[in-house]
Amino acid sequence: MSSIAFVSVSKRYGEVAAVSQLDLACASGEMLALLGPSGCGKSTTLKMAAGIEAVSAGEIYFGERPVSRLAPGARNIAMVFEDYALYPRMTVWENVAFPLKVRGITGQPAAQRIGEVLQLLGLRQMAEQDVRGLSGGAQQRVAIGRALVRDPDVILFDEPLSHLDADQKVQLRAEIKRLQKLRQVTSILVTHDQTEAIAMADRVAVMNHGVLQQVGAPQDLYERPANLFVANFIGEPPMNLMEATLAEAGRVIGKGWNARLGPARLGTLPSGGTAIIAGIRPENIAVRGPDAAGEARGTIVYREPRGDADILTVALAEAGEGAVKLVAEIPGPAPWRAGDRVTLGIDETRLLVFDAASGRNREALP
Ligand code: ADP
Repeated sequence: MSSIAFVSVSKRYGEVAAVSQLDLACASGEMLALLGPSGCGKSTTLKMAAGIEAVSAGEIYFGERPVSRLAPGARNIAMVFEDYALYPRMTVWENVAFPLKVRGITGQPAAQRIGEVLQLLGLRQMAEQDVRGLSGGAQQRVAIGRALVRDPDVILFDEPLSHLDADQKVQLRAEIKRLQKLRQVTSILVTHDQTEAIAMADRVAVMNHGVLQQVGAPQDLYERPANLFVANFIGEPPMNLMEATLAEAGRVIGKGWNARLGPARLGTLPSGGTAIIAGIRPENIAVRGPDAAGEARGTIVYREPRGDADILTVALAEAGEGAVKLVAEIPGPAPWRAGDRVTLGIDETRLLVFDAASGRNREALP
């Protein structure tokens, strides 16, 4: 096993800066997810680790060893692709045997390793089957078997679940995580799906426009996003983000709402009329009757029942025409309907303060 480190790694395609000055490390035995919208540089980062693309600047280390100039075959990595990339004319057994065969490992030593991997993946019964007849989930399991069989230092997963239906996704997600932990193989997972990243990875690196935005445990990204991009990208429904002014004594004044931050936070935050963007997650807003106390009043304009929860969109009262709308998520089924007047309770301990100009979380660690 091996740790991976990107040190000041950049990749340009002509005028396009696909990845800029990336500093990122994945510990030995860790699964690190690269998450971000299409075109943010995730695949390019993975391809540079694999050696399929050369770095334009910087260095990649596997453990202490610089690898940027090594051919893919000299890096001891395995890849699992979105489209499985199996050998179509071979059986399950032959596909898993292939990486051993090309390294000259055959006979009993090979058979033992292949058997063990097929057992791990629940593929023993299918060993003699042609891979073309298998479901997408089973094909991807074969591809994972092929990656594991030669004990690589690193496995690189490129959107491994995108072609699977919802059931198979959930199953294979748990399966990959189990195997990754069991074999303690250092892994990088590229995905655009936050649910996948959060469910599978120990830590998640969020990228945008080739620039790393934040890296941390899923809970850290959720509770302490470093900037507006991460705040908006992680969480569903997304965080409410509202223009506001931070006044004296922790007062936060928005359009149609007001809150007051606790004294503990005042030391680190500016005051005196600073323009900010305030962020609050839908589940940190309480919905009460129209005469109750709270931080905002408004009218429900939309109710989306989700079984165990209701998602309510509330237009705030005082704002008139261009009313600010807040989304609240409350345990369902809730008694509220579209048209009801309500009071909203904003949990000020969960209210995040972002710099209006830079988008940076004012309280995030540097
Ligand atoms: P992601 O995997 O996050 O969708 P990519 O790493 O594929 O993003 O792409 C990052 C940026 O680099 C995009 O703007 C993309 O258009 C560009 N890019 C990727 N590969 C190439 C290439 N071979 N030639 C030119 N531009 C590329």
